Amino acid sequence: MNSINPINFKSRTLSDISIQFVKGVGPARKKLFERLGVATVEDLLYLFPRRYEDRRDLVPIPKLKVGEFQTVTGKILGSASRRSWYTKKHVLEVVLEDDGGHLACTWFNQPYLLNYFKEGRHAVCYGKVDMYKNRLQMISPEWEIIEEKEDAQLNLGRIVPIYPLTQGITQRFLRKTIHACLERYQNQLADELPVPLRNKYKLYNIKRSIRQVHFPDTFPDQENAMKRISFEEFYFFQIAVLARRLSITHQPGFAHTMTDTQVLKFSGGFPFALTRAQKRVIQEIRQDMAKDTPMLRLLQGDVGSGKTLVAVFGCVAAARNGFQSCVMAPTEILARQHYENITRMIEQGHLTPSDLRVALLTSAVTGKEKEKLYGQIRSGAVDLVIGTHALMGGGVAFKNLSFVVIDEQHKFGVRQRALLAEKGDNPDILIMTATPIPRTLCITLYGDMDLSVLDELPPGRGTVKTRLFPQGRAGEVYALVREQLKAGRQAYVVYPIIEESEKLDLKAARTMFNHFKKETFRDFRVGLIHGQLKPKEGQTIMEEFKNGKIDLLVATTVLEVGIDVPAAGVMLIEHAERFGLAQLHQLRGRIGRGKEDGLCLLVADAETDDSRQRLKAFVSTTDGFKIAQHDLEIRGPGRYFGRHQHGLNELKVANPFTQLDILELARQEAAALAGVDPKLEKEQNRRVGEIIRKRYPTYLADAGAG
Ligand code: ADP
Ligand code: MG
Repeated sequence: MNSINPINFKSRTLSDISIQFVKGVGPARKKLFERLGVATVEDLLYLFPRRYEDRRDLVPIPKLKVGEFQTVTGKILGSASRRSWYTKKHVLEVVLEDDGGHLACTWFNQPYLLNYFKEGRHAVCYGKVDMYKNRLQMISPEWEIIEEKEDAQLNLGRIVPIYPLTQGITQRFLRKTIHACLERYQNQLADELPVPLRNKYKLYNIKRSIRQVHFPDTFPDQENAMKRISFEEFYFFQIAVLARRLSITHQPGFAHTMTDTQVLKFSGGFPFALTRAQKRVIQEIRQDMAKDTPMLRLLQGDVGSGKTLVAVFGCVAAARNGFQSCVMAPTEILARQHYENITRMIEQGHLTPSDLRVALLTSAVTGKEKEKLYGQIRSGAVDLVIGTHALMGGGVAFKNLSFVVIDEQHKFGVRQRALLAEKGDNPDILIMTATPIPRTLCITLYGDMDLSVLDELPPGRGTVKTRLFPQGRAGEVYALVREQLKAGRQAYVVYPIIEESEKLDLKAARTMFNHFKKETFRDFRVGLIHGQLKPKEGQTIMEEFKNGKIDLLVATTVLEVGIDVPAAGVMLIEHAERFGLAQLHQLRGRIGRGKEDGLCLLVADAETDDSRQRLKAFVSTTDGFKIAQHDLEIRGPGRYFGRHQHGLNELKVANPFTQLDILELARQEAAALAGVDPKLEKEQNRRVGEIIRKRYPTYLADAGAG
């Protein structure tokens, strides 16, 4: 570990100074800060408020408006705790007084709060104002105790920042600490955005921006500050993305050619006509693969739009030119499914065996079998290897890998993409995703890729009807499922967790499986699948379900990606409020894949307006793009995609949806720079290069000298 000399930090950057040396922090609180992702002074200055409260002119209690979210301050008249005879919950009621008016604030199951709400102290509460039995009240408001003399300046009479907290750190402490930190270090904030850009767009300098984000004088000041910080973040990130694209596409790669006759033969090999979208995308890929520079392309298409077939086209093109290809899937089940689909295409004569010699490589392939397969991959005896992460294993060496397909991109990161690409010599890369990504976000996150979209489903698919029920009506829903099973359909039942837990009051897959088997569905064949099964076990279950030996399959979200059993027509999702919309959409995509209509049943107790809205939107449409837009607006990209989505970790502050105009400006400027100096080698761009190498190390790895 580097020891940091607190006396000598003038020469250090703020990211070198441990939070522990900030006044009032010390080693114990340092640990608490770590939970907030704050380790250094820089982290702390970039720990932004999640919202603000306007405490410049607080509304006196008698003037509160019922039904609105408001902030009040008042003196604590008294507090009382009791146990509800009805719900058995602990109830704490505190009455605040201000300007002759009274407000009752109620919290549940937090008996320790009693220690804070001492009579005579002052409290600030934020929440929705209700009227109950002629009394004003707030249920579970956010709260703070204000010590009148001590730093009232930071907590009252101004626009007050509200930070994300962790246990042991209060709003007041955080405000005080950040304020102290600003006073001490603000002059050391490095202004990294080039001055000409700052002038051109009249952006605040960094010191003013950071100050105004934490302690805004006015709301427009806060907005300007965020604008500047977001601009900077977009700008550097976009340069990184573009520079990487240029660094890849400027290298020599494989040229794959296919004659028109060969392409027609491929398309004509299937028992159905390709959709117009498939034909168009195949042409896009064909042209791109014909170039002798590497392809980097994102193939986006809703579930069931026929992406696999398009990918297979690329694999055939590679094989025709004497090269190898691989398809990497995020799970064993999916890899196997791809393998089965593609071998079936060959068996059924849609492709000829000489088109593709296919092999499957997952962690289930071991010992002699694995060695043999490795040998075949090395010698070029197989053309296409389908697999999981195992493909990236150290022992895997291709003879001449020219085409790489990565399925379900959001499960993999950029690093893995690079690792797999390294198995070849600048291979063409096709990334497939079923997550609908609106164009804006696509440009931000994947600006380094070309985009192909399958915006059409093959004809003759059934439609899926979706119905929402409250938890209390689960029995009725099971009866509906029974009816469907009796009619000979197969069904999935999905739960958010495998095992029951004390912390979460949720039905779990295993418990319900046992219950269904013995009780509710005992006259049917019930199966269970989840991510903790051994690959072989999961495979057996999936095969049994496919072959109709299981009627009802209880599952966790392992089903989410790509499972294709056309006969399964019914899906019941319990605790639907626990899933993101993107996840629900993927899950629902598992049914209605055959000719018959599908039925999707949701059981949910939506506790917040957000989740109610989300579920309503989900019931009302099956259009993946509409659903995505909706979720992105409500929950933001991080939660829509999950935390590991590439590009979203990189953007800490800026939001491509709400700040589209800023993004576009930043992107223009980034393109102007990357266009003339992609490796950032010119004297005047050196500094930008350094910043990007520091902020986005995986993006500019091999461009320019470090
Ligand atoms: P995706 O991966 O995009 O969800 P798949 O590639 O798994 O979709 O295709 C879903 C199903 O549709 C497969 O059984 C596939 O054979 C079939 N399919 C693909 N293209 C067509 C088409 N043009 N017409 C009819 N069926 C198709
Ligand atoms: Mg698929």
